Amino acid sequence: MSEFDAIFVGAGHNSLACAAHLALKGWKTGIFERGATIGGAVQTREYTLPGFRHDFGAMNLSLFAGSAFHKKYANELKSHGLEFAPVADCFASAFPDGRWFGVSNDLEKTASRMAAFSSADAATWRRLVDAFPGEAEHLFRLLGAPMSGRALAGTAWNLWRKKGFAGALDTGRLLLSSPRAWLDENFESPHVKATLATWGMHLDFAPDIAGGAVFPYLESMANQCFGMVLGRGGADTIIRALSGMVTAAGGKITTGAEVAEITVAAGKATGVRLASGETHTATKAVIAGVAPKALAEKLLPNGTSDAGFDAAMKKFRHAPGTMMIHLALDDLPDWRAGAELRQFAYIHLSPSLDAMSRTYQQAMSGMLPDEPVLVVGQPTAVDPSRAPEGKHVLWVQVRMLPAEILGDAAGKIAPAHWDNIKESYAERVLDIIETYAPGLRQKILGRAVFSPLDLERENPNLVGGDQICGSHHLAQNFLFRPARGYAGWNTPVGNLHLTGAATWPGAGTGAASGYMLAQQLGGR
Ligand SMILES: Cc1cc2nc3c(=O)[nH]c(=O)nc-3n(C[C@H](O)[C@H](O)[C@H](O)COP(=O)(O)OP(=O)(O)OC[C@H]3O[C@@H](n4cnc5c(N)ncnc54)[C@H](O)[C@@H]3O)c2cc1C
Repeated sequence: MSEFDAIFVGAGHNSLACAAHLALKGWKTGIFERGATIGGAVQTREYTLPGFRHDFGAMNLSLFAGSAFHKKYANELKSHGLEFAPVADCFASAFPDGRWFGVSNDLEKTASRMAAFSSADAATWRRLVDAFPGEAEHLFRLLGAPMSGRALAGTAWNLWRKKGFAGALDTGRLLLSSPRAWLDENFESPHVKATLATWGMHLDFAPDIAGGAVFPYLESMANQCFGMVLGRGGADTIIRALSGMVTAAGGKITTGAEVAEITVAAGKATGVRLASGETHTATKAVIAGVAPKALAEKLLPNGTSDAGFDAAMKKFRHAPGTMMIHLALDDLPDWRAGAELRQFAYIHLSPSLDAMSRTYQQAMSGMLPDEPVLVVGQPTAVDPSRAPEGKHVLWVQVRMLPAEILGDAAGKIAPAHWDNIKESYAERVLDIIETYAPGLRQKILGRAVFSPLDLERENPNLVGGDQICGSHHLAQNFLFRPARGYAGWNTPVGNLHLTGAATWPGAGTGAASGYMLAQQLGGR
């Protein structure tokens, strides 16, 4: 048995960032991770063949690069090996009619590509880019602050002072709009709209879901203005740097150590009991980087004193799942729409807003989508170090899949457990990519397929393959993430805190919930 000031359940990047800050403040921190490796959804491994390094989950580290944590600790992270690979050609969509549109960090390039679809849209794009610094200040402030009345009032006051009442209402309206509403108001080209709307599908914002417009808006503007970054050698560069910071500051990280229970006495968390039976005590805090349902049902077998909190944790809504297909390739895909597409970090295959809405609806009703949204990542186009010389990896994210399969929208795959059909569904995905990039199959040297349930096996926070650990729809975001009254990473149990994607401000590699909690506990 060991005694710590703070014990962390799980070694996701939020927990690591929180632990690093607290350890540097002199806290004795212990992190217990059930897996053999740390990093949760941010890991890089040779899933296919030796020398081919694949990002298990997150590939785009722009959120981490732009985070408050990185701003504060850039030097420390760098000294522990953090290295980014900057991306100039960020994302593009290829379309069934053979055309493509993409956003590069060079405004003239993006605008001239857009003008080929609509000169009015290109003018709108320039106007939005010009206005972005003024808008971003408020949005990033909102997304980077705790969900407390005080922080919200400060953000609202600043917004009103800088933009006036009408301007503030416009920002509020953007936050409430669906992707389609915002896109229809601003753009006319269906190709442009589909390209931008796909960012909503990285979360669970199909085109008609209220509250989703801000994600396509922020991603496309941020990529235009700042580009994107990947991790040099793999996304796990942030995990190695974070763990280096934790251990250099005296923190202890233990892998293969599943926490079976959070121990509680007199209404306060006192430590953890591992599945092995070992117990460890925490004098100041237990910080759980887990999915809410696991907290309520597994880690606190007797619940908390607050039945409302327990019920909210059990009813926490997850988003549709993801399948990941990792390919080792002889060469990058030959995109029919244009060779320039080989330079982009992401190619979206999501032909229209209607197709995306249909895909989401199919997944929500338990059907295998006939045309899933595909995010095809080409990390080696940016960072060749991830594969042997001249070879490549492809990171294929298959968005919006049901965890439990009730049917197939294409009527071809009989409902079954994912373990039995994942390879045939992966064939459907490859068939779709082949229509855009003929000859892909001949380039495949190795492949590894992770069904939504495989993702959950690797990391139980990815419930049903939900890559964002909980729907981000308005009723479960902001003051309601993970539940009303608990957006401040608190729980009804004293000294027990939640962090991670299920908590405010949600999924992504921004380390924001971990760092904000760390400052709350240990000071700035
Ligand atoms: C396929 C996929 C693609 C993604 N792409 C991107 C992207 O490109 N860019 C981006 O910004 N974000 C992306 N994301 C989202 C982002 O990676 C996650 O939101 C983020 O990494 C979650 O971090 P976290 O701190 O919540 O913890 P997690 O990464 O969820 O880690 C939690 C850890 O806790 C451990 N754990 C759980 N229960 C226990 C227990 N009882 N005992 C001990 N350990 C336990 C787990 O094993 C895991 O290691 C992606 C996610 C996925 C899955």
